[in-house]
Amino acid sequence: MNSILQSPVSDLRGVGEEKQRELEQLGIATINDLLHHFPYRYENHEVVPIEELKHQEKVTITGEVQSEPSVRFFGKKKSRMTVRILIDHLLVTAVFFNRAFLKKQIEVGKQVTITGKWDKHRLTISVQDFRAGAPDPAKQLEPIYSVAGSLTVKQMQRIQAEAVKHVYQIVPENLPGEIRERYRLPGKPETFQALHQPRSREELKHARRRYVYEELLFFQLKMQMFKRMERQSASAQPFVYDAEATAAFEKQLPFPLTNAQKRVVREILEDIEAPIRMNRLLQGDVGSGKTVVASIAMQAVFTGKAQSALMVPTEILAEQHYESLEELFAGTEVTVGLLTGSMRQKEKRNVYERITDGTIDIIIGTHALIQEPVQFNNLKLVITDEQHRFGVGQRRILKEKGEDPDVLFMTATPIPRTLAISVYGDMDVSVIDEMPPGRKPIETYWAKPQMLERVLRFVQKEIDQGRQAYVICPLIEESEALDVQNAIDVHAQLMQFFPGYRVGLMHGRLPAEEKEDVMQRFAAHELDILVSTTVVEVGVNVQNATMMVIYDAERFGLSQLHQLRGRVGRGEHQSYCVLLADPKSETGQERMSIMQETEDGFVLSEKDLELRGPGDFFGKKQSGLPEFKIADVVHDFKALETARDDAAKLIRSEVFWKDEKYLGLREYLEEAGAFQKDKLD
Ligand code: ADP
Ligand code: MG
Repeated sequence: MNSILQSPVSDLRGVGEEKQRELEQLGIATINDLLHHFPYRYENHEVVPIEELKHQEKVTITGEVQSEPSVRFFGKKKSRMTVRILIDHLLVTAVFFNRAFLKKQIEVGKQVTITGKWDKHRLTISVQDFRAGAPDPAKQLEPIYSVAGSLTVKQMQRIQAEAVKHVYQIVPENLPGEIRERYRLPGKPETFQALHQPRSREELKHARRRYVYEELLFFQLKMQMFKRMERQSASAQPFVYDAEATAAFEKQLPFPLTNAQKRVVREILEDIEAPIRMNRLLQGDVGSGKTVVASIAMQAVFTGKAQSALMVPTEILAEQHYESLEELFAGTEVTVGLLTGSMRQKEKRNVYERITDGTIDIIIGTHALIQEPVQFNNLKLVITDEQHRFGVGQRRILKEKGEDPDVLFMTATPIPRTLAISVYGDMDVSVIDEMPPGRKPIETYWAKPQMLERVLRFVQKEIDQGRQAYVICPLIEESEALDVQNAIDVHAQLMQFFPGYRVGLMHGRLPAEEKEDVMQRFAAHELDILVSTTVVEVGVNVQNATMMVIYDAERFGLSQLHQLRGRVGRGEHQSYCVLLADPKSETGQERMSIMQETEDGFVLSEKDLELRGPGDFFGKKQSGLPEFKIADVVHDFKALETARDDAAKLIRSEVFWKDEKYLGLREYLEEAGAFQKDKLD
């Protein structure tokens, strides 16, 4: 990078020690940082015809001075000066307060430009900004910057203007000419100039277009480099499995696979076979049949004489998966094992041994799988379920237990297509977008809070027929303590309302074993009702549960409501979801009707994104979204797709790695660490 760009802001004229300190608070140390501190909006000072000026708004006008200024003083400092100006055949009065010093610049017959507040009835403008002469094109769109401390926007504008003076000398072009020509993108220095001092909307538009494309292209290049390095792991060998035996296993399953399942099975098996390392995300709604897909992949690995591990976030899930896999593999030669933290030491040791000597072909477990004593015989495939629950570190340790095993992440949280390419840009994605046939739709109702009692009577009817119910408590995002208190209160109320019934309680403050225990009791039908905060979201399968009641449903996002609703409707009985929501809340109304319209998780996630924006979509804590200065992954989705395709073409082409004209891009990749393996994950 050009060294002047890296020099401190204090090298600029007008930036002393004090300003330097203030800029530092904004994270601006170098001239380069400064140039990347873009305006967050532009104030419009474009001159518009006088009939179009809006009353009481800040406007800019230009015209010819018709009268000598007349000044009146009040006391020592105060003054009021008026001048008549002819604008489009209308005589307008400009009023200057306490700015009599401008009098010298005002001459009859000369043009002036004024910005200020417009009074349509009196035809007066109260002056905020004055300029002798015609409007300055550079001032039509005034850049407004975020500032901190005592630094003012005006000062920031001056400092930026100082830096922008040098952009043509110091900012190197980093996009090859052919790309700029293809999309008619302005050069890099022009882009900085226009973003900080746009001379027209047109110029600003193209500068943004260029900057957005550049950000997205760089991002895609980096992600795709990561992806390529993951796949081309040096130790990845071609893997031979018995395709016929796997096809036979598929045939003897109790049901035919859906087309979507067939497709993702093929994608996964191709990766397993190829001399690459799989790094794949399997997305599919709850109940779409991911476990079966996983079992086919693991069966294939078994026929190739290697082991698979399936890691899940909780013990109940581990046990549930263990049971369903035992069933799927009953009558085959595959040995399935289970490892959880709560198993007795002796049992665990036995499992360790059988993992190490290769007796166990498929091991299901919690994070106990990544603990020290687990030594695999030949680990080929690692699958994690509900991957967002595992930290990156935990996944890595499990991976390191084998020699670059293939990795498949399964998740029931649908990520909108628009976000998937940015969030999972470094992974391949397989999607099950079809449900097994014969599923009964969940009946979804929207009820006002006043109808609570009727809703609870409905719950009682279901319980009396031997079913079970979930009751999800109001959500108060800001405070976990309040969430917990809510759950405790609702639990107490329901105990009163349902005397003689078994009502359990679950919330985030319970120790892990207690949570597991409550869940176990609910799964074993030792509880009729489970009152819970949203911690119940994880993929637990209680087929006998047919009621889902959600308090304050308008506070939840659509994706979360969908996850919660997915807890029911898993068995043979008709299931119901009741959303208690404030009828006055507008977003609430919109969400409730969407919830009633569709059960498609992808549709809901797209809508959710539309309603809440990408930041809120993932929750504040870990957005997983890349941060861009100007680009917006949702708004600029088209550009993101273009950048993705261009990045793929570039990386595949030979010239990209050699030609001088791509040096800028290659240097960027180097700086971003795209060639270093340890920066992965
Ligand atoms: P997921 O893990 O995606 O939530 P599961 O794999 O647990 O879904 O499948 C949900 C239920 O659907 C299971 O009972 C499973 O046996 C059944 N199932 C899966 N695939 C099919 C299919 N193609 N046809 C019929 N039932 C299926
Ligand atoms: Mg599952």
